[in-house]
Amino acid sequence: MNRWLRRALQASVLLLLAGIPALQIWTVGVTTRWAPEELEQRYGPLARPLVELCARTFGDPPELGGLLTGGIWSIGLGGFELADPIALASLLAGLAWPPVALLLGGALVLLLHLAFGRLFCGALCPYGALSRLVSRLRPRFALEGSLPRWLGFVTLGAVVLAPLVGGSLVSLLPYAAVGLAMQGLVFGGWLGAVLVLGGLLLSDLLLWEHGVCRSLCPSGALQSLLGRWRVLRLEPLRKVGCEAHCHLCAESCWLGLDPRAGAPDSECDSCGRCIGVCPSSRLVLRVPVRDLPGRPQ
Ligand code: SF4
Ligand code: SF4
Repeated sequence: MNRWLRRALQASVLLLLAGIPALQIWTVGVTTRWAPEELEQRYGPLARPLVELCARTFGDPPELGGLLTGGIWSIGLGGFELADPIALASLLAGLAWPPVALLLGGALVLLLHLAFGRLFCGALCPYGALSRLVSRLRPRFALEGSLPRWLGFVTLGAVVLAPLVGGSLVSLLPYAAVGLAMQGLVFGGWLGAVLVLGGLLLSDLLLWEHGVCRSLCPSGALQSLLGRWRVLRLEPLRKVGCEAHCHLCAESCWLGLDPRAGAPDSECDSCGRCIGVCPSSRLVLRVPVRDLPGRPQ
């Protein structure tokens, strides 16, 4: 994916998350505006005065007729409610009749994971964007630790099964922690999310570079699980060789993968960094159609 498009998408997500209460276009499918008391209760003590100040200064936020709604873990676009299946499984576990629109939206997101693997990680996730930012700030004394990749499946199971013992770990999903922490910083609530996000970023900064995304995130684990069957894949062209001793693609991969030997495993998020640095233009992102004559190999 084009670097600037990726950055624009990630910046838009961060801005949307930060502006959720102020824009008031962002609620879970039922209303597009909160009453002042509810606003304060949901987002923190500063939400009400800040939203009122915005309204006095800029006027009321645009009325989008329900075309854009959602929450931290879902987004409603013109009647489609795209929802994170992990959060859904956890949050709707106790409901006898979960809303059909949300169930369909969750299924649609599962299908997107099946088709494109970890594309959410590569193009949209706000934690992934912050993790890459933090990796540029790593001090010399930072450790080069790593965690086993199966840990992500443990955290995935913990988030999905927590409601069975009456708990919820949804706010620990890294992307959710970003949204909640940003709201907390702006509106004065969600101190817990600020601490969770700070802890995750600090671990990436000092203990293991991108360790949260490589090995801890439940969402990354689910996407890589379904990504085994993904349609869009990164592949090296068989007729093009690597330059001698070149490791540029492996060095550029933020998920620690090595695309030289063949299609990288299901962990690949199709971000395209390795494609951009390859001096032989050997790597391509495509739907594999190996048997068609005339297709570049
Ligand atoms: S692994 Fe998790 S936190 Fe990292 S980019 Fe993917 S969804 Fe975001
Ligand atoms: S292998 Fe390439 S496309 Fe896949 S995650 Fe690594 S850098 Fe991105």
